Amino acid sequence: MAQRPIALPPEFIPSDIGVYVHLPFCSARCYYCGFHSSTKLDDEVVAQMLERLLAEARSLMALLEKPRIDTVYIGGGTPSAVPARLLCPFLERLADALGIASKGSPPSGKRESDRGSGAPCGGPEWKPHATASRPGRPSDLGNGDENPASGPGFSCSQRHAGAVEWTVEANPETVGPDFLLAVNDSPANRISLGVQSFDDGALQTLGRQASRERIDRALDLLVARWSGRRSLDLIAGIPGRTPEAAAHDAELAGATGIEHVSLYQLTPEPGTPLLDMLAAGQLQLDQHMQEEAWLAAAERLLATGLADYEVSNFAQPNGESRHNQRYWRMHPYVGIGPSAVGTLRSSARAPDVAAVRLTRSAFGGLPPKYSIELLDSDTLAFELCMVGLRTAEGVDLSDLARLTGSDATRPLLRGIEDWAGFKYIDRERLRLEGRLALIRPGRRILDHLLTSLELPRRRPSHASVWTVRSAPR
Ligand code: SF4
Repeated sequence: MAQRPIALPPEFIPSDIGVYVHLPFCSARCYYCGFHSSTKLDDEVVAQMLERLLAEARSLMALLEKPRIDTVYIGGGTPSAVPARLLCPFLERLADALGIASKGSPPSGKRESDRGSGAPCGGPEWKPHATASRPGRPSDLGNGDENPASGPGFSCSQRHAGAVEWTVEANPETVGPDFLLAVNDSPANRISLGVQSFDDGALQTLGRQASRERIDRALDLLVARWSGRRSLDLIAGIPGRTPEAAAHDAELAGATGIEHVSLYQLTPEPGTPLLDMLAAGQLQLDQHMQEEAWLAAAERLLATGLADYEVSNFAQPNGESRHNQRYWRMHPYVGIGPSAVGTLRSSARAPDVAAVRLTRSAFGGLPPKYSIELLDSDTLAFELCMVGLRTAEGVDLSDLARLTGSDATRPLLRGIEDWAGFKYIDRERLRLEGRLALIRPGRRILDHLLTSLELPRRRPSHASVWTVRSAPR
């Protein structure tokens, strides 16, 4: 397909945005993982990658004319696998590159661009700060740390993200005092821990590095040394595990008092060792049993008092992931890193090009190149329903009408009505909030619903791939 430079028209420049940063390093590859990541964790390789990510962040912010940052999500890979002496300055420099206001910016007003690359936090240019700036932070933080860089005097400048929700993903085996020191002294205010299961056998089946003992240690450390928000990932439908065992995992997760749990079902991805093991008959997956396991775990999470605000995501009140909500509401977000994607919606009523989807076409060069897919309003409306109807809050019908004209919402309502006779529509929400939402059983069979709906889609004739080479200035 032909590629040519594109400058984003003003209606696609967002006022606020969510940013996903892909940190593609892991200490080892899990058997089921289809994500891009490398296990080459030597300092030089990692530092080079971090510099590239920072350069890309600066470039994107210039391209988008420095929008207000609403959420930041550092995912992977495994961000906690990156040594704290590199992670800590990276988080701080990233905040600066994104233009996030900080409580502890140097009095001189120095910015990231004024610093030498890779200067350690608390180095000569950056004075160490007191370690008790975060409410509830233990005063002994830093004692007995495993990493020399996290000993007394090691501290990033004390930034805070203000209203920004800033999540860092972590795996239990790499959550130690040094990692917690790095994130405590950064703008991060939410840690998402990849537990997946509390059972050693299940962890081995998945090829995870953690053990039950490491998970318990990480959770204890989070309680003792982290005052920010916490989330935990679980996987149901692991070969050899019964629904009761999956429910037990969910119960243990709920017992931690953690405010957010994501519950996924194991899916064998192409090219993974898991798929090879299944093909060779070394492991067996029964789809029915998998679904039963997911349901049993989900019911147990609900019983612990968490609400399923999205099919796979459970939270205490106000514990929802704001970053994920941006995806489900199709609010603008961008990605930084090798596997990054983003979507920007037009603020104008524009049936032919209602949104653009940015995907990194090649990583490493500057200025970075993005493939851009153009989405017409019907396609965007369909996508909005596809993701929005997974959530308890559903889809704002006035948003849909703004996007497609009020006519487009009628076939949608009619389709759901025909399909389910209103059985699955959350009528209270529709009446009181003007939102189309499904009650729980409907949300869980959404894929079936959407394929049976007659929504107009014109994407194939409107999709094209362009390349952004520089900011539109
Ligand atoms: S830690 Fe996460 S990103 Fe890394 S290999 Fe395992 S599942 Fe994949």
